[in-house]
Amino acid sequence: MTVRPCPDTALILGIGGQDGALLARQLLAMGVRVHGGSRDVAGRAFPALARVGCLDQVRLHTIDPTNAAVVADALETIRPSWIFNLAAQSSVHRSFERPGETVDGIVRGAVTVLEAIQRTRLDCRFLNASSSECFGDTGDTPANEETIFRPCSPYGVAKAAAHWTVAHHRQTYGLFACSGILFNHESPLRPDHYVTAKVVRGAADIAAGLAETLCLGDIDIQRDWGWAPEYVAAMVAMMNADTPQDLVIATGRLVSLQTFVAMVFEAFGLDWRRHVIAGAYPRRPYDPKIIAANPAMAQVRLGWQAKVDVAGVAARLAAAEQRRRAGHDCWVDMA
Ligand code: NDP
Repeated sequence: MTVRPCPDTALILGIGGQDGALLARQLLAMGVRVHGGSRDVAGRAFPALARVGCLDQVRLHTIDPTNAAVVADALETIRPSWIFNLAAQSSVHRSFERPGETVDGIVRGAVTVLEAIQRTRLDCRFLNASSSECFGDTGDTPANEETIFRPCSPYGVAKAAAHWTVAHHRQTYGLFACSGILFNHESPLRPDHYVTAKVVRGAADIAAGLAETLCLGDIDIQRDWGWAPEYVAAMVAMMNADTPQDLVIATGRLVSLQTFVAMVFEAFGLDWRRHVIAGAYPRRPYDPKIIAANPAMAQVRLGWQAKVDVAGVAARLAAAEQRRRAGHDCWVDMA
């Protein structure tokens, strides 16, 4: 792979989220000027950016990715060399409650940004955050870049449509446009409603004597959980590649939610079997039992491979939560 000079300027749409903050931190460390888009800069606090220590180093803009005029104006003004579209209603569960908002934001957002790149004739590279949820239930066959999409949620359907929109713009108009097919990746920046954060905070509460039990749904589901800072590094590597290509970004290791729960509870000195009430909520009919990944192509094309496995993820999340409760809420690197 050719080593390229860093781009001058990058635009991250959805900068306020977990990945946006981590990506901003990585790009700033590379010497890139980082602009960030949020749908409402004035009305947001950007705690994730503050926790990674980057809030005062990025230029924030109110950009609704579905608003063509606003996006085109932002591209003309900022003239980024790299555009990362991370903006999305990113909860699978919530996508059933808000299917219209989810699909509109994800699909129209991707189309709008791609059209704006074409219309403004901006010489830039574009990456869209695609998702393992495009695959639906993979069964025992790990999904790779050739696997057929069978999404089973409004979120998955929207991500699949956005994915093909990106591929269409690459193939038809020759844009440097690619999708990172991201499997679950975690950090202490995950909001509370995600199951991994719920497990970590639940275990911490029990260890502190603030609760006795943690109620979860189906803990037999199997997922591929990775460490989010490594996934934003993969996004950067995709932008640096000689050619644009859609790639599965995952650890390649599958574990059950029960295994993850056991690891987190153990980190807090607890036996999960004494505290976790599994099956407390009826199993969602749309929740894929297994979403398995084969990320071999990312290693071939980018030399990228996840180094942190799920045990490392659980240990890092537990340590960060312990530090947070001890009053250290800033981001610390836990290599
Ligand atoms: P977050 O939910 O933390 O952040 C996404 C950002 O998108 C928010 O900060 C928000 O910014 C913006 N947003 C929220 N709702 C909408 C909407 N309806 N329309 C447009 N923008 C919206 O996501 P992550 O950082 O965890 O993930 C980044 C991207 O990667 C997302 O696209 C996600 O779907 C995808 N992904 C993430 C995975 C993971 O495990 N984290 C796995 C697979 C894919 P604001 O409110 O400021 O506009």
